[in-house]
Amino acid sequence: MKHPAACIQCGDCVEVCPVEKVGGHAIVTFLADPDAADYSVWLCTICWRCHQVCPTGVDIYGLMMERRRHEAAPGGYQTAFERVLRSGLALPISQEELDQVRAAWGLEPVELPPADLVHILLHKSPSE
Ligand code: SF4
Ligand code: SF4
Repeated sequence: MKHPAACIQCGDCVEVCPVEKVGGHAIVTFLADPDAADYSVWLCTICWRCHQVCPTGVDIYGLMMERRRHEAAPGGYQTAFERVLRSGLALPISQEELDQVRAAWGLEPVELPPADLVHILLHKSPSE
């Protein structure tokens, strides 16, 4: 992993980052101080575009993931993780809502997987 000190501040990563495009974070600020408390690495979409374009090989993505390993996820993320482990879905949706959304987009209906099957897939055992 290349250290942030390898950054020559060309701005190429900023140009391609989707989160930068919506004003969500500032990579160059993060590289200046990867431990800055006010910087949210949780917004990174893990697209790796910054990694692809960096001329000096700074592993921005790797640095952000390293920081994630050492701090608690924001509350909304934590809730989403717990929902995924419970149901396989980050956002709860009923069969009726799913049918409506798919119909609105002109898509064929699909059935949500049974909760028991999701539990077995995620936890390798039937639910208690
Ligand atoms: S991996 Fe993260 S920081 Fe890099 S371009 Fe994608 S969203 Fe931006
Ligand atoms: S692309 Fe690489 S060298 Fe350029 S600003 Fe981003 S991290 Fe620095």
